[in-house]
Amino acid sequence: APALRIRDLCKTYDNGVQALRGVSLDVEPGDFYALLGPNGAGKSTLIGIISSLVNKTSGQVSVFGIDLEADRGAAMRQIGLVPQEINFNMFEKPLDILVNYAGFYGVPRAEALARAEQELRRAFLWDKARLMSRTLSGGMKRRLMIARAMMTRPRLLILDEPTAGVDIEIRRDMWRVLREINAAGTTIILTTHYLEEAESLCRNLAIIDRGTIVEQGPMRALLAKL
Ligand code: ADP
Ligand code: ADP
Repeated sequence: APALRIRDLCKTYDNGVQALRGVSLDVEPGDFYALLGPNGAGKSTLIGIISSLVNKTSGQVSVFGIDLEADRGAAMRQIGLVPQEINFNMFEKPLDILVNYAGFYGVPRAEALARAEQELRRAFLWDKARLMSRTLSGGMKRRLMIARAMMTRPRLLILDEPTAGVDIEIRRDMWRVLREINAAGTTIILTTHYLEEAESLCRNLAIIDRGTIVEQGPMRALLAKL
């Protein structure tokens, strides 16, 4: 089954805004997939529906063959979400943030500690494991958000504009972490409004504009058209 399968997805908000107007796409297991589009295109709405934060108006979403409506809990267990805003407790240490997060999802403490070390190393944060998170740089905080999402060992990692508003140095460090996660087998979907980011990271992409997919396919084929 595809990692993500979306059919005819529509979303109309209470105020009448049609954020999604019949979106269909497939993301294969192992892919690194970009959803590229300008502000207001519907990217956050799409991510919100996949991660069960936003109710769809109509259409189907399934994750590794599990229909979101049929078994939301099982579908959600496949997914790791990195939201746009940094939302961990600044007065906790990175190690505690990760271990507590895994604990919340039922991971036994010894296993959580082992995973936390692995994820902090992969995010170049192991030497910061016991600092107060408040003292981390903006880039480190972003990488900590990624490390935290990986603590539940999701098969599909979803990031909503993970590098919005950060400078190119910080973006490159985040790209390195994401490439490594993808190389280790996790399917990744990210939204971005930077073509450069999609180009550098992704094998396949969809371009979304005003709630409609206007192009989709392999990155190389699309670049050849631009
Ligand atoms: P509700 O109808 O559930 O009360 P709100 O209007 O409070 O929803 O909005 C929920 C969230 O969506 C808030 O974070 C708000 O800032 C954001 N939001 C509301 N309207 C828009 C809009 N037109 N564009 C983007 N975000 C919006
Ligand atoms: P993107 O992530 O691509 O910037 P969004 O999904 O945030 O796009 O927004 C798509 C459209 O839906 C925009 O017109 C936006 O103003 C509107 N929108 C987003 N959230 C809400 C909300 N909570 N209530 C009403 N309208 C919203």
